[in-house]
Amino acid sequence: VPLVLPQFLDRAVALYGDKPAVYDEERMFTYRELNERVNRLSYGLRDLGVQKGDRVAYLAPNTVEMLEGFYGVFQLGAVMVPLNIRLKPDDYVFILNHSESKVLLVDEDLYHLIQPVKDKLKTVQHILVHYCSEETNETDYNSWLAGYPYTAFDRADLDENDVCSLLYTSGTTGNPKGVMLTHRNNYLHAMSAMHHLRVNDRDVYLHVLPMFHVNGWGSPFYYTANGASHVCLRKATPASIFHAMQRHGVTVLHMAPTVLNTLLQYHEKHHPLLGQPVRVVIAGSAPPASFVTRVEEELGWEFIQVYGMTESTPLSLVSTVRSQFADLPAADQARIKAKAGYPLIGCDVRVVDENGEEVAHNGKDIGEVVTRSHGVMLGYWKNPESTMDAIRDGWLHTGDMGTIDEDGYIDIVDRKKDIIISGGENISSIEVEGSLYEHPAVLEAAVIAVPHEKWGETPHAYVVLRENQTVTEEEIIAFSREKLAHFKAVTGVTFIEELPKTASGKIQKVHLRNEYWQEQG
Ligand code: ATP
Ligand code: MG
Repeated sequence: VPLVLPQFLDRAVALYGDKPAVYDEERMFTYRELNERVNRLSYGLRDLGVQKGDRVAYLAPNTVEMLEGFYGVFQLGAVMVPLNIRLKPDDYVFILNHSESKVLLVDEDLYHLIQPVKDKLKTVQHILVHYCSEETNETDYNSWLAGYPYTAFDRADLDENDVCSLLYTSGTTGNPKGVMLTHRNNYLHAMSAMHHLRVNDRDVYLHVLPMFHVNGWGSPFYYTANGASHVCLRKATPASIFHAMQRHGVTVLHMAPTVLNTLLQYHEKHHPLLGQPVRVVIAGSAPPASFVTRVEEELGWEFIQVYGMTESTPLSLVSTVRSQFADLPAADQARIKAKAGYPLIGCDVRVVDENGEEVAHNGKDIGEVVTRSHGVMLGYWKNPESTMDAIRDGWLHTGDMGTIDEDGYIDIVDRKKDIIISGGENISSIEVEGSLYEHPAVLEAAVIAVPHEKWGETPHAYVVLRENQTVTEEEIIAFSREKLAHFKAVTGVTFIEELPKTASGKIQKVHLRNEYWQEQG
């Protein structure tokens, strides 16, 4: 049997047909109903001329339309191209033309991003708007969908090595690249992730992470396959997250640390989160160690750190604590969880030096994290040079630096590009940020390298303060020197209203660096 994704929905329909598959703000569909919408979509797209291998682009927040899109597109053997909703109109022109997308499905609230650049789209033949208003002169998706049969669709011949998605990377460090992932990549990743995250049919999964981003992207597969319910949030704010929890009894959340931070702030003020049936919160992107403790101790929820990247579908490390560690004191457990973790089943992850030799397993020596797994992409779409640069001798070079300890747990030190080299020492911006988060007045912090006449580079912090807090640059510097070896301490601080972030909630240090240089004139 080829390992292809429509099997996951088939299983859910067979076993959980009458169970709620998906909720959004207004609607609920059971797995049977969802499947009917999926079939209608496949018939409809085929009618528009979409064939196996064609690209279908989506510009939408987390909605039912987005979730059903996955399976509707896959039944045709077509390729889904989800677009980040926070880009500028010209970015969409670039991605839609680069991916040569044939059909574009757009959420009604985002159509204004496409309308002004419609003339520049070279390959898009049809635009459908999920709920089209009278003024918008496009096809209304939901009435269009209703015109097609809901009965079983005769699927295209699918091979597990067929590409099913082109996911453009976050663009945290530069221009987004189109990552080609296959059915097999996603299928095996889902099998492994569902085991490590203990996904089950009592789960109610809240889509906090956007489905157009790789972390949100995988969940339609593993939560669906297990008959869990999906809850879609158009906009993730602490209030909307809490509201969804109250309404649906959410058990699993997966989010960026920055969003988790706002949720913890909200909790501090209103204490609403206690007593929720949440079993686990999952986060990647370098969560500060203090968050782990707060989630586990204040909220009583399990915290699982994960590590991954778009190019590996994404997860390759997970920090679940083995039962043999369960008797360790809480502080030791928290230290284990503050590491990115141990390779998932099916992933081989190593930390290597410049010669490709593994560094010593001592938790100290730093090398580049490389991985070889079922999740590693086929390559970057129409970009063989970048592909050859990223995958060498079968190993995906992540561009992240890490350490590995005696137990084989890997910790991410920093992105290669973000490491601060001061007086010949490597300083992890992540570590410096983690210490700043311990300051009671600090809401958010990001640390970048800036030039220093004596040391070459030195850490400089961008800090957002909590409401009604005042603190001086000198105080932050002194605090940093108290917490860290002096050479790692920040030597300058810029207070800022808000940190620049990607749509998935990552801090864009590129923009901070630009800002720093602008300030320096
Ligand atoms: P781009 O490649 O376009 O610049 P990006 O690298 O942010 O953007 P993603 O694939 O979304 O795009 O993110 C993967 C990166 O996120 C990893 O390479 C790593 O730098 C960071 N990351 C993910 N999980 C963790 C973690 N647990 N700890 C530290 N860093 C992490
Ligand atoms: Mg990257």
